[in-house]
Amino acid sequence: MRASDLVRIDQQGRIVDPAYADHRVNTAGFVIHSAIHMARPDLNCVIHTHTAAGMAVAAQKRGLLPITQHALKFYGKLAYHTYEGIALSLDERERLIADLGLHKAMILRNHGLLVGGASVAHAFQEIYFLERACQAQVQALAGGCELNFPSPEVCVHTAEQFEQDDAENIIELAWSAALTLIESQRESYCS
Ligand SMILES: [Zn+2]
Repeated sequence: MRASDLVRIDQQGRIVDPAYADHRVNTAGFVIHSAIHMARPDLNCVIHTHTAAGMAVAAQKRGLLPITQHALKFYGKLAYHTYEGIALSLDERERLIADLGLHKAMILRNHGLLVGGASVAHAFQEIYFLERACQAQVQALAGGCELNFPSPEVCVHTAEQFEQDDAENIIELAWSAALTLIESQRESYCS
């Protein structure tokens, strides 16, 4: 993806910058992202992915299991949305919002992952942890061994620890590290 692939649109899905008039707007992407932006002014950045691990966990009946530290960040804080087919209907926005509730992360069953954040850095932190948790779960289940589950008390405690006071510093640190990682590709993605 490059900067020139992006397109600015309004809440009706109309392209607002004539410079991008020949760009295409993905309808399903618009339905999903606009739903969150219209209902959740606290989530300025919304990320939706179709990674292999994210889709795999989205296909598993029990969803994200509390079996890794990364997954425990979402303990009691993860929403689920039932699959309705490709999200081409604006009607689905109401159900997406109702299912998300007050959470910042949601598994779209049989589809993929969705997160939001106050900033790009915040949203990146959410999708990074959710993606890594899904990768670990897929590999743990592939191992075929019985899984070890921390106690519910430890799960709650760990989720609370992720909300600690210095969380902001950690989020900024992680985002600046991510930018450093892609810096060498600047000529490509800025084109
Ligand atoms: Zn999708």
